[in-house]
Amino acid sequence: MPKQKMLEDLFLDTLKDIYYAERQIVKALPKMAKAAGSDELRTAFENHLEETHGQIDRLQQVFEIFGKRAQGKTCEAIQWLLEEGEEIIEEFSESPALDAGLISAGNAVEHYEIARYGTLKTWATLLKMPEAAKLLDANLQEEHKADELLTKLATTSVNKMAA
Ligand code: FE
Ligand code: ZN
Ligand code: FE
Ligand code: FE
Repeated sequence: MPKQKMLEDLFLDTLKDIYYAERQIVKALPKMAKAAGSDELRTAFENHLEETHGQIDRLQQVFEIFGKRAQGKTCEAIQWLLEEGEEIIEEFSESPALDAGLISAGNAVEHYEIARYGTLKTWATLLKMPEAAKLLDANLQEEHKADELLTKLATTSVNKMAA
């Protein structure tokens, strides 16, 4: 009979998934920042890059609390989302719609992260790891803020430039 996998196993797999994702995001954000046409958008990506380093730090603390080595697990979902961002950069460079496209790619990544952190936070609480839940919530709040800032930039200026 196969091993009966429990919530701990799911938690660890998902933690490895987002750990992998964050480390891919760290590589992608400088490219997004460099491609951005508006100063505000570039600054937003640069600031989120700084935050992302802190998020990776928190994830390493969560691994420690859980008593496991920090380790990533390939996440094809984030690979494809980041790939979409690269396509926008290639296909819309020098175009007025570039920033709107970069924001839409950024929103998709933030939503992926929000989904992961929401789930992990809930599971950490169920697994009686309140400190881990707090760390995961800190990441979740940063993703929410990043998502909202991107949306604000889109609706206040960037989308109009593209239209
Ligand atoms: Fe993140
Ligand atoms: Zn993932
Ligand atoms: Fe995944
Ligand atoms: Fe993020």
